[in-house]
Amino acid sequence: MEAALYRVAQALARAERVLFITGAGLSADSGLPTYRGLGGLYNGRTEDGLPIEAVLSGAMLRRDPALCWKYLAELGGACLQAVPNAGHLAIAELQRRIPGCWVLTQNIDGYHRAAGSPAGRLIEIHGVLAPLFCQSCAAEDEELAAHLQRSLPPRCNACGGVLRPPVVLFEEMLPQEAIDTLYAELRKGFDLVLSVGTSSTFPYIVEPVLRTRERGGLAVEINPGLTALSAEVDVRLVGTALDVLPKLLGHISNDRICK
Ligand SMILES: [Zn+2]
Repeated sequence: MEAALYRVAQALARAERVLFITGAGLSADSGLPTYRGLGGLYNGRTEDGLPIEAVLSGAMLRRDPALCWKYLAELGGACLQAVPNAGHLAIAELQRRIPGCWVLTQNIDGYHRAAGSPAGRLIEIHGVLAPLFCQSCAAEDEELAAHLQRSLPPRCNACGGVLRPPVVLFEEMLPQEAIDTLYAELRKGFDLVLSVGTSSTFPYIVEPVLRTRERGGLAVEINPGLTALSAEVDVRLVGTALDVLPKLLGHISNDRICK
């Protein structure tokens, strides 16, 4: 582990373009349950007898917003209870030191922003849980925590329309702006890509790793277990993000000359 860690630290110290790809494993270290997309939190069927993919879908939000919101509220409640951890903070600090360092996250908890990752170099490919917005008049609403204490679905103060979070529900499209930003940055290329706490099941999560390697960059995976991507990376750092990322940061000095 030490040799591998040092190799990655050296690459980080030299790199001008770095991409962190983060998934549920990173937020699991904050105490959030891991889930694949939005759904694995519930392991298949809900207590309402429907698959989670059906209740957390755009169609259900239109047809039965109270039912969809019952499960959105569980996600929201879990996210509000936890906070960013040392892994999020280490990534934000590396972004501060490396102007070409980006984050692509599948997490909807908003913890990268909360940890200080600049919004201009953060791609939240599955959206975020807050702030909510009104589906009728588009007004934003910052009161997620308060709404979760009232009857669901939450309603707009201005017009009474049903509020929703800007997340990607099942059967919904990925946000075009996020996709455009991701591919624009991929065209510029990265020297180093680090896949952190993700099982790498989505093509838009795997592709940046493979493209970086094809162009001669270093591909790193930080994960306690094996994933679909493990055989495709140059270096595996076996451990949780919370364990590995602060150690990695410890090897990088302020001006990025390795100790
Ligand atoms: Zn409204």
